[in-house]
Amino acid sequence: MKFSDLGLNENTLKAVADVGYKEPTPIQQKAIPEILKRNDVMGIAQTGTGKTAAFTLPMIDILANGRAKALMPRTLILSPTRELAMQIAECFQNYGKYQKLSMALLIGGESMIEQQKILSRGVDVLIATPGRMIDLCERGRILLRDVQIFVLDEADRMLDMGFIPDVEKIAAKLPAMRQTLLFSATMLPEIKALAKKFMKFPVEVRVDPAMSAADTVEHFIVKTNERGKREVLRNLIRSENVQNAMIFCNRKKDVDILFKSFTKHRFSVAALHGDMAQGARTETLNDFRDGKVQLLVCSDVAARGLDLPDVSHVFNFDVPVNPEDYIHRIGRTGRAGKTGRAFMLVTSADFKALALIEKMIGKKIEEMSRFSIEMDPPPEPKSRRHGKNGKQVRPEKPTPEKKGKEKRKKSEMAAKKAASAQEAKEKKEVKKENFRHKKHGGHIRKTAGVSVSDAVEIKAFGKTMPAFMMNEVKLS
Ligand code: AMP
Repeated sequence: MKFSDLGLNENTLKAVADVGYKEPTPIQQKAIPEILKRNDVMGIAQTGTGKTAAFTLPMIDILANGRAKALMPRTLILSPTRELAMQIAECFQNYGKYQKLSMALLIGGESMIEQQKILSRGVDVLIATPGRMIDLCERGRILLRDVQIFVLDEADRMLDMGFIPDVEKIAAKLPAMRQTLLFSATMLPEIKALAKKFMKFPVEVRVDPAMSAADTVEHFIVKTNERGKREVLRNLIRSENVQNAMIFCNRKKDVDILFKSFTKHRFSVAALHGDMAQGARTETLNDFRDGKVQLLVCSDVAARGLDLPDVSHVFNFDVPVNPEDYIHRIGRTGRAGKTGRAFMLVTSADFKALALIEKMIGKKIEEMSRFSIEMDPPPEPKSRRHGKNGKQVRPEKPTPEKKGKEKRKKSEMAAKKAASAQEAKEKKEVKKENFRHKKHGGHIRKTAGVSVSDAVEIKAFGKTMPAFMMNEVKLS
């Protein structure tokens, strides 16, 4: 199939030809005609399948007619990360170069004033991360009632990152008459529920992640113990013909540790995770893209949506907790028809997570045993405690001594409770009495435990006065 068969206009086809794409990818073949027909579309596709062009190309066509009003964007694209948002913006710039479209990026880490200025002029395309978008919506700096197309990109990632409540708030401000496009790598029940809530009779287009992962990526596991992980990884990298690689850790803390370790061993390495300032993230990514650094140690936030087509290897320093993350991670290699290699370090604590991944991709991952080292003994299940002989230990029965101690403790607590109730009662009575005094013109006032000769004196305590005395002042 050719791009010209999809119903795109001449300007868009010219821009696609300039970028050098020969034919549409499967997701583009399926999604573009449906979007042009103005149907709601639910796209099940991971990054690397060409899904960004699958929605940006028809949007550019649709937006060719019409103009944006001040503060009222005509389309809204929500993306989970700043990097992904920036890439989508780049696609609009590339593919929309023969059409005059205005665009604004609303992402954290960028100047809000600048972003607002652009918005106030009116934009055709607004690309935003949910946090920044909510911020502006709540301040009334942006009106969404003119949005004709709403795109929710990487919805499953939004879910992982806890953005769904924000997305729901934003969607509530959109007009009911709109086209909605939702993309997700996996079809979790929560994503299905979102689709039901946000979309009308969506057409489902799907690129099977298991198929696309298996086709162009060779994956392997390497068995290791916890202490030996870094050395195993270094050996692996040295023996593989690594042009450039992304190395994934489950925690940001480990990204930093691994980065330091690689630096110490004189590897060409950079680190990327969500806590870094936007400037530093962009710079790191550019360095990696330009080949100035060979290895990029990163967290899962960096796994999605980054357009780094020439990654030769992916190393999973940790087995991801969610099997979908594995698909995303290895989706960084073997992109756009190229082949890639992915390795995952597996410890004895990871077998359950590994089994889930294998179930998801529909095959067992081969072991690269020449790099494997001895594993630690499997960790004990948390629910059971074992004695020295390996038998299950029952919870201890309380001794009579222990029972007596508990009883004493209970009665002490009850006595304390009764005393404080009595004290509260006394305070209440004192308050009542003072009120009666005041009513009858008396000068001597009492507070619980404190006698004060006149209300004026109480006022002299000023700000440091105890709370119950302040009440007394209010009475005078
Ligand atoms: P995405 O899945 O949107 O992250 O795209 C992954 C990569 O595929 C990007 O580098 C795109 O530039 C590239 N790409 C998108 N569509 C095509 C196409 N039809 N032919 C070749 N490469 C493409």
